[in-house]
Amino acid sequence: MPDARRAGPIALLLAFAACSPPAPDNGPEPAPPPADTTGDPVDLVVEGRWVLTMDDADTILEHGAVAIDDGIIVAVGPARDIDARYAAAERLGGDNRVVLPGLINGHSHAPMTLLRGVADDLDLMTWLNAYIFPAEVEFVDPEFVRIGTELACWEMIRGGTTTFVDMYYFPDVIAEVVDSCGMRALISTTVIGQRSPDGEGAEQDIADGLEYVERWKGKHPRITPIFGPHANYTLNEQQLRATREAANQAGVPISIHLSESPFEVDYSKRTYGTTSIAFLDSIGFFDGTTTIGAHVVWPTEEEIPILAERKVGVVYNPTSNMKIASGVAPVAAMLRAGVRVGLGTDGAASNNDLDLWEEMRLAAFLQKVGRMDPTVLPASTVLRMATAGGAEAIGLGDTIGSLEPGKRADLIQVAFDDVHFVPVYDVVSHLVYVADEQDVATTVVDGRVLMRDGELLTIDTERVRREATELAARIQSALAERRAASSAPQP
Ligand SMILES: [Zn+2]
Repeated sequence: MPDARRAGPIALLLAFAACSPPAPDNGPEPAPPPADTTGDPVDLVVEGRWVLTMDDADTILEHGAVAIDDGIIVAVGPARDIDARYAAAERLGGDNRVVLPGLINGHSHAPMTLLRGVADDLDLMTWLNAYIFPAEVEFVDPEFVRIGTELACWEMIRGGTTTFVDMYYFPDVIAEVVDSCGMRALISTTVIGQRSPDGEGAEQDIADGLEYVERWKGKHPRITPIFGPHANYTLNEQQLRATREAANQAGVPISIHLSESPFEVDYSKRTYGTTSIAFLDSIGFFDGTTTIGAHVVWPTEEEIPILAERKVGVVYNPTSNMKIASGVAPVAAMLRAGVRVGLGTDGAASNNDLDLWEEMRLAAFLQKVGRMDPTVLPASTVLRMATAGGAEAIGLGDTIGSLEPGKRADLIQVAFDDVHFVPVYDVVSHLVYVADEQDVATTVVDGRVLMRDGELLTIDTERVRREATELAARIQSALAERRAASSAPQP
């Protein structure tokens, strides 16, 4: 770049052009051909000024379209060709819009939206043991979970997230909300070695979990029941082994907090004689169905190849890692080693939102400053982690994550209307470094439109807002009473 500056403004412009993808022409979209009612009938055509397929070649179509029928992508191509070939029952125009696969949130605790802001600015173990676990035992019931999940689905659909991997309590309730709101989810039945809102301990959690899996496995096109052993510091070796056996027996994946904090690594060394990932590998925890490991901030150099070999899907949660000061995950090293890495928000109590756009931006920034190297984790890599890479990490790479014929139709339109998108040199750069939840115009899951032009179609948002506000008021006054009681002079 110094050479270009010395050579003057024209050379500088060329230098910029050379290091960016081809600048899209900003001309008007060609007029669509007259509606062809003789084409093959399809349910839906979604058009875009730009269509990012996120296929292996990173194909970007200008003035493209996606044809969808019966929940499946049947064709992706130039809008003119798609319009000529298909007669769509519904057509979503693409002026100034970017079409891309729906975003994948690989780690969340959806109902914790109701605890957002209840306790901030604490370290992980204080936050969990002094605030979150006691509050959950006291307040979390099926009603809490229903309202919190609806609130989460509202935010996720609004922000263009189409799939999430959840870990919380009362998984049947979460699944019922996911069914009605239209999203896709892997929903854990949590296993934890202590009393929780829906169980007395790990043994009961596993038995209940097997029944829950039986109720949902293979019964719903968008819902995958999975096991969610909380962590290796809330479960002992026997309980971890038993959870893995149950998941294998049921044929469903596992999601677990993995190598999240220095506390966990120390605990693992003290308790098991080695670090988390090496210990879990030594007991065969990664053998069998897919393991989704949330966080993985502190893998040792020896542990990274284990993650690649065992095909453990790693979910990077930069906002939570920063807020709780868990650390900087070695994401570039994991990607280099062939580890599948996706992105997640973690729960709204440690984030405090479910915005994957912010997560993408912070994913890149935290890596850059953590390594003091601005070339680490470029925008295209981050966007892949939120889409096709995330799908692979959670074991759904053959089903979702890219816009290709045969895949399920999970996609979004981002409106490039706001001033912060002007001008457009590089669409991928804008999506990662500029876009926010509010820029998403359309969200489609399994071919069904869940949000059109910013309007939520499957959630009664006013009812959810009212119910969440009322429930939070009850939690707030109970917490205030408890604080008053604990600070009152003892008799
Ligand atoms: Zn978590």
